[in-house]
Formats: sequence, C-alpha cells, structure tokens
Amino acid sequence: MSGRTLQLKYPFSAHARQASQKLARDLGVLVDLLERPENHYIVEEAEKRVYAALTQNPIRYPTMENEKDVLIYPTSRLIVEELGFPQLRALQAEAESKEANRQLGNEKNDFVVELCESSFNWKIDSMGKISERSELPLLLRTFELKMRFENYLEVAPSFHSDEWNLINRYLDKGWVYIRRSELDRLISGKFRQLIMEGRFDIPKMSQRLIEAVQRIEDKTKGRIRKAEPMKMTETLASAFPPCIQKLHDDSVRGDVNLSHDARFALAAFLLKIGMDENEVQKIFSGSPDRNISLIEYQVRHIASKRSMGVDDEGYTPPGCRKLQVNNLCPVYLGSVFDPLCEYVLNPLAFYQTRAWEISKGIQDHSWYSRKRDKKQNF
Ligand code: SF4
Repeated sequence: MSGRTLQLKYPFSAHARQASQKLARDLGVLVDLLERPENHYIVEEAEKRVYAALTQNPIRYPTMENEKDVLIYPTSRLIVEELGFPQLRALQAEAESKEANRQLGNEKNDFVVELCESSFNWKIDSMGKISERSELPLLLRTFELKMRFENYLEVAPSFHSDEWNLINRYLDKGWVYIRRSELDRLISGKFRQLIMEGRFDIPKMSQRLIEAVQRIEDKTKGRIRKAEPMKMTETLASAFPPCIQKLHDDSVRGDVNLSHDARFALAAFLLKIGMDENEVQKIFSGSPDRNISLIEYQVRHIASKRSMGVDDEGYTPPGCRKLQVNNLCPVYLGSVFDPLCEYVLNPLAFYQTRAWEISKGIQDHSWYSRKRDKKQNF
C-alpha cells in the first residue's frame, strides 16, 4: 500500500482531507450524499464510531477499501457537533486521539515523519542510524528524531508530566530531540486539539442523520448532561473568597497584568464552579498586555480538561497554601480578613460554604466557632 493510501485512515492527514473534499466539497453536499441508499453504511459506521467514543471503547478504523470510507470520520464529527454536548466532543477527541496514537505505533518512521510534515507542516529530522548516534553523549542516543521547537510547543504544553516541559528537553539550535513514541504522542495530541478547537456551521440535517443523532442522544441520556452556562452575577461574585474576588476585580479593571499563576487560579476556579468559557474569557479581556490569544488558549485548555465527560474531572484551582506562597492570598498578606478563611484549605470550599450561607440568608458567621478545628491561622 502506498504512503498516500495509508495516510487516508488518519482523518487529520492532508490526503484524507483532500479525499473527503473531492467526494463532498462541503458539509451540505455531504449531508445530501449520505441520503443515497448506497451511502447509508457511512452513517451507520459513523454512528458506531461516535458510540465507541462515548462509551470509551476503542474506535475501529475503516479498511479504506471503499474510497467513500474516508467520509465516515467527518460524518461522525457532524453527528457530535449536531448533538451539541461539549463533553461528547471531548470524549470524541480523546478516543480519536487514542486510536491515532495506537495506529501510529505500528507505522514506520519515514511514514510518520511524512505524515506530520504534510498534515501539520511540522519540521522533523532524523538523528541518523543507531551506529551514527554512537558519537553522541549516552543520554542522547535514544532520541531517533528532532523537531523544531516551535512545532513542539504547539502541543507539548498541554501534556502535564514534567518530561514535556521545554526546560527539561535537550535543545540544539532550535531543534528538540524526541523519541519516535513521543512524536506519535505529539501527533495524536495535535489531532485531539484540532477536534477540541474545530467549530463549523452545521447544515440542515437529513432524516437519516437526524435519526442517528436521536439514537445517540437516547443512548447518552443520563451520561451526558447539557450544562447551562453560568453567567457572572452579583450573587455569584458575593460568594467569592477574598483571593478570587481580588483577582477578578484586578482582571476586570485591567490595570495590572495578572501573573500566569494568578490567571490559572482565577480561570480554573471560575470554570470549576461552572462558568461558561466565553464568560471567563470576557473577564480577562481587559488585560493590559492584550495577549488575548494566549489567554484564550489558556482558558480553552483548562476548559477542555473540565469537559472530559466526567463532572469532577479537570483542573482543581490551587489550594490556599499554594496561593499564599505565590502572594495571591490577601488574608495571608493581611490586607483583608474573612473568618471563613480560617476554616478552609481551598477557595472552592470557601465558595461552597459562602454560597450556601447566601442561599439560606445566613449573615451571622458565629457558627464557624462551633466547628471543631481551625484549618489555618492568620
Ligand atoms: S485563605 Fe484561602 S480562600 Fe481565603 S483568601 Fe486566602 S487563599 Fe483565598
């Protein structure tokens, strides 16, 4: 099988995208095409692909014996976008990325290098054969490849183990040394990102597709819930702990640049309490450094973790100890005081208790003293 044909099974590849566009130049044409009896199998396969993602089962790649098999993936994306559940998009991104990673593990180096060069425009170079690498220091001999650091940084910051941090990598004239398995992970991570960030206008759906969407919706009932985006209100803000209140006010006023730690703490907190991603971005829009695209990226990244399909997944905002070490706790710094802070170790615990007090109309905080232990003293 030629490299070009082999690439067709990877939906993010340039060849797969070209092949789908050749059959259906846009989504409207795709929907019409799927109505034809000979193409019904595409909807059925796409539905299976979505269902596998939802149930966290491995996705099966089509054989690509039929040139129309390349339309199964875009149809599965169409179904998920029509469903409109961000959690389902996250599950699809996760499952597709996992399968791509598994499939890449069986491919030869040359194929994988060509695949990411043609799909993402990445620059990858070989480090030579094992015998050629014997000149290198022992630690570097296991790296088969190197890639441009700017391409590496498109994906690596979204991985959380320290080994992906650029400061822990060997860097030579802008090239990052990587192992083949790491390149597979970067490619599948990029694929995941493309799904998470991809938005398109959904055309009018045909009867066959509507039925497929309804079947998936029925199967997902109880597993995925459509969260109502939370808007910033005065009541909501009045339950904020002093640290979050200060970060929020500084950000909205836009007269100081929040540090990375401060931005992360505020965004993770707001997203964790259920605020809509766009609302969170609005709060950062007054940032004086106007680095809006970076902020959008950071918020989207934190939000994408939240929507992994399980309610309690995602980033937890830093605890009080961490905020104190980073000079982000105004109570610790002595500029304000709230007695509830003595009984919590995380701003979220503060928020839950204060929101409960507000909902019950409780203004007298003397009941805190009946709690057995203070968790921190100021
Ligand atoms: S003690 Fe904790 S909750 Fe209270 S302001 Fe400081 S960091 Fe925030």
